[in-house]
Amino acid sequence: MSIAENLSIVRAQIGKACANVNRDPGSVTLIAVSKTHTPSSVLEAASLGMQHFGENRVEEAQRKITAVKAQSPSPLIWHMIGHIQSRKVRDIAPLFDVVQSVDSVRLAGKLATSVPALRKLKILIEVNVSGEESKQGFSCVRWQEDKATFDIFAQSVHEVASFESLQLAGLMTMAPIVEDIEQTRPVFARLRLLRDALQQRLGLPLPELSMGMTDDYPVAIEEGATIVRIGRAIFGERQIIQTNDPNL
Ligand SMILES: *Cc1c(COP(=O)(O)O)cnc(C)c1O
Repeated sequence: MSIAENLSIVRAQIGKACANVNRDPGSVTLIAVSKTHTPSSVLEAASLGMQHFGENRVEEAQRKITAVKAQSPSPLIWHMIGHIQSRKVRDIAPLFDVVQSVDSVRLAGKLATSVPALRKLKILIEVNVSGEESKQGFSCVRWQEDKATFDIFAQSVHEVASFESLQLAGLMTMAPIVEDIEQTRPVFARLRLLRDALQQRLGLPLPELSMGMTDDYPVAIEEGATIVRIGRAIFGERQIIQTNDPNL
């Protein structure tokens, strides 16, 4: 299937999920996750109206964004969605418009000092609400049952929100891989309720909920996702990563 065919299916599915819960499809931002795919695939998706792209590795993104910028007629919006190592922090702000994977106050602080004067870097806080050990993010599994967990997390969010050069816009999560996508619903609902509780506690708007990938985005949208991050359903299966592939 072509990227064009894939995109029209994904857009139709987004429309259907929104209709199920009476949401405006315009309230969901689709991010094409282009990791492991070539600049020409990005340009093809851009020619089909895609504006938001997601990458998870700094070196790969550096090469790809540079190549795409040289050829793309319209400016694209790049989202960092992968774990950021300390030694890579300085490379982030020049490359990306949004960082969705802020997983510690320490990382937020380092990012904040790397943002050029007069610019604000939009960020999301990554939260692990599923309890899977492999997942990055602030651990917040039992926040509804355990008040101390919520208090500690709310304090961290408050600290992240207070960095002047960062604009905290909301939360991001990854659901576990499951057999039946309905099993992801409580995970997405838990992130939405956590966001609501944080807004109440901190008196801070957190409009964005980035949740939902190829296998689970319709459920995520029904549970309130404002951003979905979709790779395989748009670009097909991921290529094998060759970190020094000059085409990536
Ligand atoms: C790879 C990735 C995605 C996209 O995954 P698909 O299953 O290909 O849609 C979304 N979010 C994050 C954080 C990722 O690393």
